[in-house]
Amino acid sequence: MAERLETESRKLLGRLRDAMAGDDPGQARLDKITHLIATSIGCEVCSIYLFRDEETLELCATEGLNPESVHQTRMRLGEGLVGRVAQRRQVVNTADAPNARGFRFMPETGEEVFSSFLGVPVQRLGEALGVLVVQSKEAREFSADEVYALEVVAMVLAEMAELGAFVGEGAAMGARHSQPVMLRGTVAQEGVAEGHIWLHEPRVVVTNPIADDPHRELERLTEAVEELRVGVDKMLALAADKEQAQVLEAYRMFANSKGWMRRMQEDISNGLSAEAAVEKEQSLARARMGQATDSYLRERLSDLDDLSNRLLRILTGQGSDTGAEMPADPILVARNIGPAELLDYGRSLKGIILEAGSVGSHAAIVARALAIPLIVHADRATLEALNGDHVMVDGEQGIVHLRPDDTVVTAFRDKMAMQAAAVERYASIRDKPAETLCGSVVSLHMNAGLMADLPSLQGSGAEGVGLFRTELQFLVRNQMPKRSELSALYARVLDAAGGKPVIFRTLDIGSDKVLPYMKPNDEPNPALGWRAIRVGLDKPGVMRMQLQALIRAANGRPLTVMFPFVAQYEEYTQARAEVDKAMEREARLGHVLPEKVEVGAMLETPSLAFAPRKFFEEVGFLSIGGNDLKQFFFAADRENERVRRRYDTLNVSFLSFIERIVERCAQTDTALSFCGEDAGRPVEALCFAAIGLRRLSMRPASIGPVKSLLRRSNLDEVRKVIADARHRGDMNVRPAIMDYLRDQK
Ligand code: PEP
Ligand code: MG
Repeated sequence: MAERLETESRKLLGRLRDAMAGDDPGQARLDKITHLIATSIGCEVCSIYLFRDEETLELCATEGLNPESVHQTRMRLGEGLVGRVAQRRQVVNTADAPNARGFRFMPETGEEVFSSFLGVPVQRLGEALGVLVVQSKEAREFSADEVYALEVVAMVLAEMAELGAFVGEGAAMGARHSQPVMLRGTVAQEGVAEGHIWLHEPRVVVTNPIADDPHRELERLTEAVEELRVGVDKMLALAADKEQAQVLEAYRMFANSKGWMRRMQEDISNGLSAEAAVEKEQSLARARMGQATDSYLRERLSDLDDLSNRLLRILTGQGSDTGAEMPADPILVARNIGPAELLDYGRSLKGIILEAGSVGSHAAIVARALAIPLIVHADRATLEALNGDHVMVDGEQGIVHLRPDDTVVTAFRDKMAMQAAAVERYASIRDKPAETLCGSVVSLHMNAGLMADLPSLQGSGAEGVGLFRTELQFLVRNQMPKRSELSALYARVLDAAGGKPVIFRTLDIGSDKVLPYMKPNDEPNPALGWRAIRVGLDKPGVMRMQLQALIRAANGRPLTVMFPFVAQYEEYTQARAEVDKAMEREARLGHVLPEKVEVGAMLETPSLAFAPRKFFEEVGFLSIGGNDLKQFFFAADRENERVRRRYDTLNVSFLSFIERIVERCAQTDTALSFCGEDAGRPVEALCFAAIGLRRLSMRPASIGPVKSLLRRSNLDEVRKVIADARHRGDMNVRPAIMDYLRDQK
């Protein structure tokens, strides 16, 4: 870039900094800035548009357009050339604005006389804040150097906005991060919580976007990049496996990228500080990330994002540990988080808000086990929230109230009080049976997967653990757990259960549960692919190790093992044979054998419901995995919100199918339970009980509500409601059941 331009750019930034240094209110600062830019670039017009709300841009300052239009002219995102710059986060540079695509004529600004238009987005780390525009009468395209210079200025504006420079009297913009904000997401673990924000990765604050001494800044950048490279090399040397190494190789490639370095050096030559230069490139990468359709490219951009964060922390000295103190009632906010990191926080968290994540992610499984309300897909959470902000998490509606106003606080606290009252009511029936008014007793068990779940066995009044998901121990580690570790853990689970029955489900991996240290299978349809028992039988090493660990953990106590995802009789007999072999092997090795071993299967595919009678006679017990069974019954991916919600468990077809399974088990006297999520929903649980299920396994927190409804209900009446609905030809029995329950109140 021409040296003259660099000097000009630095001069302009220097003047901008002087303009910011005074005590002027925000509006006066913006006015000065537009004046400075217009004169420095030699254009008749310079305007700054800032977002009023997520959808609307407002002209906040101008040099050259009609001053009356300031704070009057507004446009929606995508509207006009300015709206287009903001929406696409891309520069628009045209010599003939009135004839450019998307041009919108705004008579109040008097802008039709200006031919050329250059608009650049004002953005900070992927968050669009507004648009900076220069215009001139002369019909000309702006040169690449001019575009670049304006981008540098836009970057500085974004930093200043973040620091609150444009707030104040005649407010050009409201103070950022101070208004109430409502974010919508998807519920991954229900519950309500009130607390204060704790950012998993606190945002880096750049207080010095402009620098006088480019040589010093270049030195700082070079030193920081060197430190970054050494750090990445060290991590690479310690990489646990090939995959981690691959990711780090990509990091190394970026850390050594000449293009990245050159762009940042140019930014510095134009007057930015080293950290502002890193952030500028990071913002551009984030904007591209939002638009990239290619997943490989998105991942690489995300690597670059992570690397930029590391570099910023080196430059600013702001580590992930900023010295901030975790509030007493922390609500964690992160883009995403791994299960192991979440376990490190443990039960100290009151709630979790993630921008990414999914309902079936490992983090969600851990949050569920810890009974911490979790909202995923809460767009913009990390951009809006600041450490210590007051927040209310509504894990029923999937809503986050950030910095809520008084009315929201009151309404929310009422809701929490009502829930607390209900919890107390449930505590009073904790030790009573789930006996219905007609005298049927339903046995309620809990689902678990972590040691941390076990205390709930007492608290919830569960009669035992109806499903212990053993894969969590495999998912939260970086390497395959050892047999001795597993055996010690299973023994502690049995100790904590204190004689109550525990059903251990063998490793259920594949599909959505991919072990971090196992090569993922590139399968077109993982949910229908090589998973659970299929992996266990094809590669029996891990299953054998797990069975040994379980036998040793039982150490003479009764042991119950369940195999996941059994689709046909033969899979069960083969798995059962593995148990027998493991018992023989353990006996030979001199270990004490369990007093009794029960082996069952999960019924998660429709095929198993139609297995030969002999299977039902042979299997120790069956447990319906409703989450999977339902997705295969309706051919609707359980992770895909769009299709998942279409199909209701109380749809007559599905209910009849469950009833058919109940009948088949009754014919052969096979013990049957239901352990999918639906067992923990009171209305569903009531219908299951009405069609004959007598054992349900659910999250500990659901036991109270389910028991409470069962104890108030008469199954004969519920059966009649279901029968009438079917007779009428209803597609779904839910409306009839809800009417019936309303009448009962
Ligand atoms: C199920 O599929 O219903 C089940 C309990 O197993 P998971 O949710 O672990 O797949
Ligand atoms: Mg399942």
